[in-house]
Parts: sequence; C-alpha cells; structure tokens
Amino acid sequence: MSTATAATVSSQYDQLIGLVRDANLLGSTSALLGWDQETMMPPGGLAHRARQQAQLARLSHEALVDPRVGDLLAECETDRALTADPLSATAVNIREIRIDYDKATKLPTALVEELARVSSVAQHEWALARKASDFTRFRPHLERIVELVRRKAECFGWPEGGEAWDALADLYEPGCTAAEVQRVFKPLRERVVKLLDRVLGSKTGPSNAFNELPLPIDAQERFARSVVERLGFDFDRGRLDRSTHPFCGGSHCNDVRMTSRYTETCLNDGLGSAMHECGHGMYEQGLLEEHIGTPMGQAVSLGIHESQSRLWENQVGRSRSFWTWAHGQLPASFGDAARRFSLDELYGAANIVEPGFIRVDADEGTYNLHIMVRFEIERAIVAGDLAVKDIPGVWNKLYKDYLGLDVPDDRRGCLQDIHWSFGAMGYFPTYTLGTLYAAQFFEKAVAEMPGLPNEFAAGEFGQLKKWLNRNIHAHGKRYRPGELCTVVTGKPLSADPLMRHLEGKLLPLYGG
Ligand code: ZN
Repeated sequence: MSTATAATVSSQYDQLIGLVRDANLLGSTSALLGWDQETMMPPGGLAHRARQQAQLARLSHEALVDPRVGDLLAECETDRALTADPLSATAVNIREIRIDYDKATKLPTALVEELARVSSVAQHEWALARKASDFTRFRPHLERIVELVRRKAECFGWPEGGEAWDALADLYEPGCTAAEVQRVFKPLRERVVKLLDRVLGSKTGPSNAFNELPLPIDAQERFARSVVERLGFDFDRGRLDRSTHPFCGGSHCNDVRMTSRYTETCLNDGLGSAMHECGHGMYEQGLLEEHIGTPMGQAVSLGIHESQSRLWENQVGRSRSFWTWAHGQLPASFGDAARRFSLDELYGAANIVEPGFIRVDADEGTYNLHIMVRFEIERAIVAGDLAVKDIPGVWNKLYKDYLGLDVPDDRRGCLQDIHWSFGAMGYFPTYTLGTLYAAQFFEKAVAEMPGLPNEFAAGEFGQLKKWLNRNIHAHGKRYRPGELCTVVTGKPLSADPLMRHLEGKLLPLYGG
C-alpha cells in the first residue's frame, strides 16, 4: 500500500473515531443528567428531565447508526495496517464499533420506540403492583415486555445451537450464553447449598450486635468517604453522594459520580455499598484518558464491572485484615460507641449468613441463589417454556427449594426487582458472574502478591489497586470477558475460587 493511501485510510479511522467520540459524548451528558436526577434534582424537574433524556437518547442513537459510520467502518476493516494485530487499539476499536453498529442498525426504530414506550409504562405499573403486592396487576405489562424482548432477540439473532436468551444477554455480557452460565452455575449451586447446610446447621456463629448499633448518619458518611479515599478513589476526579439506590455513574474517567445510602443502625450497609460503588468508580477512573469515548476506554462488560465492585466489597471489605485496620479507625469517627466491639465481633458482623427474601439485602453466602432463581425463570420465559402468569408459583417453589423459604407475598417475591419491567432480561447473571470473576481475580492477585492481607491490615490498598489498573482497567474492551479472565488468571472462569473464598471464611466463623 502506498503512503498516500495509508494516510487516507488512517484519516478515515480518525474520522470514524471522531464520530464515535461525538456519540459517546452525548451518552456521557445523559449519564450526568441521570446522576443529577437521583441525587440533586427537585421532584418537579421530572417531566422536563424526561424530555432532555429522550432527546439525548434519540441524538445518540442517530449518531450511532449514521451511514457514514458504516462506510468508514467498511473501509477501515480492509486496512491491514489497522487490523493486522487484533489486540492493537485500532483493531479493537474497529471490532467493537462494528459490533455496536450492527446491533444498533439491526433493531427497527419502531421496535426501539415501542420498547421505550411500553417499558416506561411497565416500570410505573411495576412500582404500583409491588406496592400493592399484586402480580396480576403487573402481568399484562410484563407479557407485552416479553413479547417485545423476544422480537428484539430475533432481530439480533444467535449462533447455531444457542437460544434467544443468549442474544439478550450478549448486550450486557458479550459472548455470554445460557449454556455457559448453566455450566458455571450448576456446580456453584451444589456447593453453595452444601456449605449453607453446614453454616445454618451450626450451633455457633458470629454475633450480629455490631449491626444493631445506632450510629449517626453524618458520621457514617464521613467514615465511608475516608475509607474509599484510602482504598484509592480519587476525589479530585469523582464524588460520593447519597441516593435511594446506590450506583456509580458519571461522564468521564476524570468525573466519576458514585452514591451510597446509610441506615442508622447498620454501619455495614452504607459502608459496604460505598466500598462496592468505589470498586465500580475506581474501574472508571482507571480507564485510560487517551481512549475515553472509544471502546478501548470502556469497561468490558457488566460482569467485569461487577467483579471490581464485589472484589472491594467482599474480598477486601469483609476480610479480617481489612477489619484489623478499620477496627483502629472506628473510635476517631464514632467514639466510645465503637470501642466496646472487638475485632472478632466486627469481622463476624460483616459476615453474617441468613437466608432472606430480598436479593439486594442478601449476604455473600446466599446471594448467588437469588440470581439462579431469576436466571432459571427468565431463561424459560424467553424460550417460551414458561408463561408469565406462572412466574409467582415457580418463583416461590424455587425459593423454597434453594433457600428453604416460604415467600409470603409477591412484594417480597417476584415483584422485588425492577429489571424485567424495563426489558432487562439476560442481565441478572452478570451479578453472579461478577462475583465469580472477583474471586478468581483476587486469588490470582494474592498468589502474585502474598503480602496483600498484611498491607490491608496496615491500611495500605495501593498495590491491589495498581494491579487492577494494570491487569484490567487499562485494557478497556481489548479482551472479551471470558478471554480477559483467561489472560489475567491463566484459567477460564470457574466456581472454584469463589467456593474456596466462601468455605475458607464462613466455615471457621460458623464453628466448622
Ligand atoms: Zn454493582
């Protein structure tokens, strides 16, 4: 290829990246408005905010499906200089922009609009039905949603041997299939159930007293801020505020917005949420600025994002070494109230296991069973093997089988989560995949740096953060989720590291 042609093609790559950055700039503005809506906006602003968001969504979709993107992509794809090394930034960006472009153009605008319209009504109806604890009220809306997400799956299509659920899951976890999820979930469930039998059958266990200690909310928030700063969150490039549902958003690696919520009687609720969101936040801050607005500057998937939050919340935040340090920090924030608790009591209180109805309140030991119930149900629903009207019965039966609980009503049963009401089917497993990735990444980090627990006990978390920056964050979307796992840990995703983590911690705490 002559120099002149190479220069032309490379300028076409620059044009392509320019268009993609413009589309993502709109998306980042929308993210900031979303954060504002949850933290600062007065209730009266809702209708206007909805119009602002709808306009941004339309503009960013139009930018994404611009035929110029298709033309430039086609030209870039034939340029060996850009694509010869499949792991180069140019090749990765071209590959991922193609995936996004095909996805966006495969969906007819009418279907996109219909889904947006139906799901905004369904979300509203879901909230009312949940309040009334009445699934029959939500049922017709969910039936409509299921119909539309099936059509969406058909538009995307799925590889030979797969199923419709795969096409939906691929939006959240690229390459994820129901068969693969099943391969990992099955042994996980068997081992979790065995572990829970031993833990719950034990006559001894940690005391919950610290989780019932009233502590001032403002002091809890100050403490949570000091902890996440210590973990490595950069407050010059991010914020931590309050919201009803904790989340991490923001518009750029230099402007990350996270939130937590605090309850008067349980420090671990607010602190755990803050540490969880801090893991998401440090992932965003760890993306490389030069790549922001392109796939190389974006997180791999929801599952990998969740691995970062779970790792800091669970592997670090529920460890004895973390509490060794935190134990010494509490009196400065909470005075005598905290002083009467021993390190063992604090560590135990962070690791109480108790089956409950509500997923978001679940402990580390039972959490994944909640996800498995949802996965089995949505897989059957999307495949057409289960009718929407039969969801409550199946839900309640699975809660009895997996968690030994009799679900008292739909509010604490199949109406508790918002996800299905906005058409997010294929989403739930990313929570458990993230938990599994977290355990596998952390095990590898400790194998490479055996001094980590001692560092945590001294309040030093920088080595772990740097390791995550280097091994995960800096790659952007270079690898697909499963591939990243193999590159970082040398092995495909497995349930073993999580089970080693849970058994190694919970059995001693519960006298096993
Ligand atoms: Zn999360």
